[in-house]
Amino acid sequence: MEIIKNLKSLICAGSKLVLDCLFPLKCLSCYKEGSWVCSECLPKLKINNFQYCIICEGRNLDGRVCMACAEKSYLNGLLVVFDYKHYLVKKLITTFKYQKAHQLKYFLSDYLVDLLHTVFILNLDLEKQDDMVVTFVPLHKKRLIERGFDQANLLSEILAQQLNLNFTQLLVRTRYTIPQVKLSIDERLNNLQGAFKVQDARQSIFNKKVILVDDVVTTGSTMQECARVLKLAGAAEVWGIAIAKG
Ligand SMILES: [Zn+2]
Ligand SMILES: [Zn+2]
Repeated sequence: MEIIKNLKSLICAGSKLVLDCLFPLKCLSCYKEGSWVCSECLPKLKINNFQYCIICEGRNLDGRVCMACAEKSYLNGLLVVFDYKHYLVKKLITTFKYQKAHQLKYFLSDYLVDLLHTVFILNLDLEKQDDMVVTFVPLHKKRLIERGFDQANLLSEILAQQLNLNFTQLLVRTRYTIPQVKLSIDERLNNLQGAFKVQDARQSIFNKKVILVDDVVTTGSTMQECARVLKLAGAAEVWGIAIAKG
């Protein structure tokens, strides 16, 4: 078995080398070869200095929904790394999603890890990692087939690995929904009703703090719907985390 495993990783490393030679990485900003974003362009990627209450947009450091808004939110908080309006952020995400650049998952998830590390220091209890589970906002099966991979799944798996947290797919999308960006705020809520259900995984969710990963959030209504379903199934808290907010 060990030999097969070694052989597999050798083939993977070899084919990565061939791919790197055939299609060398180019900076998505200045096209210099060698990395997704070169060291000169990296400072252009501005990480959010503040987080916001997703309901009233009041500024804070940890993305927690403020006391006054708590009743209106299923999410306990939402953490966002970048502003989606920035050209380079948009380019990173569209390249990841639509040009099937799977390898970008490492580059992007590093930012999620850093952000969660900061917030761990602020309010999540590192001693109690067993109480946490990382999961993601899933695509519908039809869209998964179209796209070939689920970007939020890739990001969340790496995030869990890096932070040594439990990872499991808790949610499935049971209905194919119209993309949220095409709808008004009211239509968005209706569009999502009954769109997600919790997979049979009660023991992995009951009383847990769930970290829910997505690549981009807009109004947050998809994450809220996921959080609603997760809490109905027994989750103690649900924290959203995303690469960018549009
Ligand atoms: Zn560059
Ligand atoms: Zn608020």
